[in-house]
Amino acid sequence: KLSLRLKTVADYVHRESVMADIGSDHAYLPCYLVLENQVAYAIAGEVNEGPYQSALKEVQSANLQTKISVRKGDGLEVISPNEADVITICGMGGQLITSILENGKSKLAGVKRLVLQPNVGADSIRKWLIKEGWTLTHEEILKEDGKIYEVLVADIQEGVQPYTKDESLELLLGPYLMKQKNKTFIEKWKGELEQWNKIMLQMESSQSPDLMERKQQLLKRIESVEEVLKS
Ligand code: SAM
Repeated sequence: KLSLRLKTVADYVHRESVMADIGSDHAYLPCYLVLENQVAYAIAGEVNEGPYQSALKEVQSANLQTKISVRKGDGLEVISPNEADVITICGMGGQLITSILENGKSKLAGVKRLVLQPNVGADSIRKWLIKEGWTLTHEEILKEDGKIYEVLVADIQEGVQPYTKDESLELLLGPYLMKQKNKTFIEKWKGELEQWNKIMLQMESSQSPDLMERKQQLLKRIESVEEVLKS
């Protein structure tokens, strides 16, 4: 059975599309999508030998070789331009996801949707999407086995970016998530606030000018996030 985390990603993959899951590990997501007849064809990309072998094994044991191509390579290197409609990249840090997209930009021709699931650092993805002209269209936050995950969906169609007044705060928290403010969102940012307050305490005693500036920035961030949680 697919995890809630990957099921949330799966729900945003277009019907009948060709999808590529980059960093697929066991290829659970492509196998699920093909078995459910949700996609026409899937590509599972892996850079590391161990996970690549796991993906091959999973696809063979489900007898899905004609519907899923397992490929070894770094990031988007495994696909050709105009081959995939939807790309999913899940279970990594936001910065790694961003660098995979940045390094593979030429392969994004023809891609209509990106479904990205960062474990941390979603803000770096939101910034990259704006820079590259992708419109953030949906966000989800969920908790599974004690961990909190975010899912970001971006479409190539021209549309209105969801950002409004305080863009830097929206990049950090997620423009849709901060509006919706569900209990998982509140739990995540309460946890972050606790961490930041601990760091503040540690910095409190220092007078170095360097730290003064960082303290100011952190204080400002703490205050604006507290404001969002309160309102
Ligand atoms: N996507 C699966 C999931 O969400 O359950 C697996 C996540 S696993 C934590 C991350 C996977 O990404 C690993 O199997 C790793 O080998 C792969 N990976 C890391 N960097 C990669 C890259 N540049 N290109 C392709 N795969 C990569």
